[in-house]
Amino acid sequence: MLDPCPPIEGRRPDRYRPPHCPWAECPSHGTVSGFRYKRDGAYRRACDPLRKVPRYRCKICGRGFSKQSFAVSYFMKRPELLATIAALLVAGCAHRQIARTLGCAPSTVTRISARLGRASLLLLAEALEQIEFVDEGFAFDHFETFVYSQDDRLGIGTTVGQQSWFVYTFDPAPHRRAGRRSALRRTPRNAPAAPPPASYVRSTSRVLRVLKTICPGYVRLASDDHPAYRHATRSVPDVVHRVYPNPPRGPGCDPRAAHERDRAMFPVDLLHKLLRHSQAHHRRETIAFGRRANAVLERFALMAVWRNFIKHVTERRHEPTTPAMRVGITRSPWSWTDALAQRRFPWRLSMPEGWMKIYRRRWITPAVGINRLHDLKYAF
Ligand SMILES: [Zn+2]
Repeated sequence: MLDPCPPIEGRRPDRYRPPHCPWAECPSHGTVSGFRYKRDGAYRRACDPLRKVPRYRCKICGRGFSKQSFAVSYFMKRPELLATIAALLVAGCAHRQIARTLGCAPSTVTRISARLGRASLLLLAEALEQIEFVDEGFAFDHFETFVYSQDDRLGIGTTVGQQSWFVYTFDPAPHRRAGRRSALRRTPRNAPAAPPPASYVRSTSRVLRVLKTICPGYVRLASDDHPAYRHATRSVPDVVHRVYPNPPRGPGCDPRAAHERDRAMFPVDLLHKLLRHSQAHHRRETIAFGRRANAVLERFALMAVWRNFIKHVTERRHEPTTPAMRVGITRSPWSWTDALAQRRFPWRLSMPEGWMKIYRRRWITPAVGINRLHDLKYAF
């Protein structure tokens, strides 16, 4: 069970015990209990001068760290912005709108957005670890968007529980723009770099392998009739794949086929509608758009945390139930403060296949030019 803990920053220094060494190379990094350390003074943060932050030293590796090493706001100059920016990012605000509202630089919002994405990714990975057995089918579809220009398309494979509406996993599939292109678009200067071939099949296969880890028996998957899905499900054993083709709609068409498809795919269709509605860069007819595939994926992770832990299944009926409560990993709806109460460490979790590539920002968008990876030594 995932229970929210009080935020690390607010805990009394004399009662706080660091649970493990924060350094990934140390043998006590993965320790569960009995971590050996000693106190090593204290310091005050420039952003919070009234509060003393205790320092510690690990007795195994001898390296120093502090109480802040276990907070999501480690190394932050404006920690008070964290929860507010998370809430505004899933409320349809673009980075510059948030910066104007909160009185900070737009680049601060961009940086905090990446940090929130990483923290969300780790929370989702921990949630998957907590799920022992899944007793429901999955609705699967790729959410279509673009990064940098409309030539660089990005599909995000999303898997939603058919009963719980829990977002289990996601995986990117960058691909080339389909359809005819104008003479201007065909010039080499505007031509995008070729995406990896068969990215849909690979993305779907990765998703199925993650689902296999939480479904000991058969994986029941409902999807539309995208050829890549049939191809991928054939390559992974024990997958029961039900295909619901997208039927023609309008006057003279059979409404039963459309009704059956909509009922089976409703959980994932609803998630895609929420994404279009709640994140500024996914809107139709907007001047906000994603610049980097990696940033889009980080914001998707943030959205998945909001959908799974914070947003109620239905807001119309005033029923305080979240998808995470339906899956049985939380007892009550969470707030952003609960979700960001403590820092999680990637090496202590079993990250689903492909998620470390997102964490390290290795989904490169060639058109942008400079793609800075997340390779920090101290704040990884
Ligand atoms: Zn250590």
